[in-house]
Amino acid sequence: MALVNENFLKLENNYLFADIAKKVNVFKVTHPNVDVISLGIGDVTRPLCPAVIEAMHRATDEMASESGFRGYGPEQGYDFLREAILKNDFLTRGIHLDMDEIFINDGAKSDTGNIQELLRWDNSIGVTDPIYPVYIDSNVMAGRTGTQQDGRWSGVVYMPCTAENGFVPTPPERHVDVIYLCYPNNPTGAVISKQELRKWVNYALKHDTLIFYDAAYHAFIQDDDIPHSIYEIRGARKCAIEFHSFSKTAGFTGVRCGYTIIPKELTATTLDGERVPLNPLWNRRQCTKFNGTSYISQRAAEAIYTPEGKKQTKETIDYYMRNAQQMLTTLRGLGFDVHGGENAPYIWMKTPDNYGSWQFFEQLLYGAHVVCTPGVGFGPSGEGYVRFTAFGSHESTLEALHRIEKWTKSH
Ligand SMILES: *Cc1c(COP(=O)(O)O)cnc(C)c1O
Repeated sequence: MALVNENFLKLENNYLFADIAKKVNVFKVTHPNVDVISLGIGDVTRPLCPAVIEAMHRATDEMASESGFRGYGPEQGYDFLREAILKNDFLTRGIHLDMDEIFINDGAKSDTGNIQELLRWDNSIGVTDPIYPVYIDSNVMAGRTGTQQDGRWSGVVYMPCTAENGFVPTPPERHVDVIYLCYPNNPTGAVISKQELRKWVNYALKHDTLIFYDAAYHAFIQDDDIPHSIYEIRGARKCAIEFHSFSKTAGFTGVRCGYTIIPKELTATTLDGERVPLNPLWNRRQCTKFNGTSYISQRAAEAIYTPEGKKQTKETIDYYMRNAQQMLTTLRGLGFDVHGGENAPYIWMKTPDNYGSWQFFEQLLYGAHVVCTPGVGFGPSGEGYVRFTAFGSHESTLEALHRIEKWTKSH
């Protein structure tokens, strides 16, 4: 008899975006002649840039020849890509890393979900709230939480991101073993200053806390003094693992490539108090469970760091950030209370008149034929907010804003 991992049964079947799709479908069936614009799902829409496409073609041609063919690559990733990452994402910011502190992956979701395997089941975990659901759900699967009630898991420390704290909470009073941070933030679009981030690093050093830092949106940062990496803060090498992704940076949601940094000084302890470095453990884990990211994807990622690649990816990011700017301007002009959108591709909007997130979602769908994401889907502190993404085309974003304007002024 095979016994099931009952932790999976604690998770609700319904995934946020499936719920949204269901509601949108009901609308479409009852309104067959109305087209709906989605500013909801966090997927990119612009095509891959020419530098990336050329690199993928070249890599494909190599694979077609006997001398250029590549089979299994290194589980940690190819040196050509690790070198490009080291040089461009870290050395330029004064951060020194060893090559074997960089692990290439097939996207940040896998690693942010899997990293908790290195830790015992009985660590306490803390998350900023609202949050990217992967952090909590992966811990639920591992049995590190109790059950869910009113959108909260027992055994998880929630650190609310509110308008009052500018959506950047300060570290908790109490001790937490593991804390997940994501800046620039999905879903709120908030960023963290060096000064605020320093508080978290100092907290972690004082409490012997491990920080999992998700920097998936760092490429959207526009202000020079906002940190791109937690390693810009002194001491972070001792307490933080950092996750990166090319998904939002360069439209790789379908190509799949990212990387994770695990500094060699970083340790966790055994029950006996012995300190164990996590870098070799993760390497061991990857060599057992992961056979590397495709060669073609890694060549594609390398191309992002060429002069043309940098210029072209920046153009795409600028394109999305123009959408964000337009959304902020229009929504503010209509009297909505909006946040984010300046260093991140997300706009976090307070629902008017204290409507619930889902209630406003339906009103916007039926009134303006525009889809947003209900904030409560990202955690209890998201109630009363909705998220808009800047990942649409200019045309559809402008049309959506136009519809929202018309709808707002008609009632
Ligand atoms: C999109 C996203 C990622 C990246 O996921 P990939 O697996 O790299 O596509 C990671 N973290 C957050 C918060 C995200 O929104």
